[in-house]
Amino acid sequence: MPVKPAPKKEPAKKEEAKPVAEAAPAAAPKAQKAEKKREKKHKEEKGVRAMYKAEGDKVSRTRPTCERCGPGYFMADHHDRYTCGHCGFTRYKPK
Ligand SMILES: [Zn+2]
Repeated sequence: MPVKPAPKKEPAKKEEAKPVAEAAPAAAPKAQKAEKKREKKHKEEKGVRAMYKAEGDKVSRTRPTCERCGPGYFMADHHDRYTCGHCGFTRYKPK
C-alpha cells in the first residue's frame, strides 16, 4: 500500500467556532408579550337569554317575531332595523 502523505492544511476546521455562538440570542425576545386587558363590559346577553326578559312571574319577549314565519322566529336586533334570519324579512325601526 502506498502511504498517503498527510493532508497539510484543511480549511474546513476554521469554521467550527462560529455557528455555536449564533444560536443563543435568538430565544430571548419571547418573554415580552404584554398582558392583554381582559376587561369586558357585560352589557348584552347572548343566545336565548337575550330574547326573553323575566319580570317577576312573567316572561316577556324582547324582540319582535317575524311576520312571515310566525311566532317562534325572532328577528335580529340591529341598530336601525329588525331582520329575520330565516326568510330575510326586514322591518326598519321608527325614528
Ligand atoms: Zn321570517
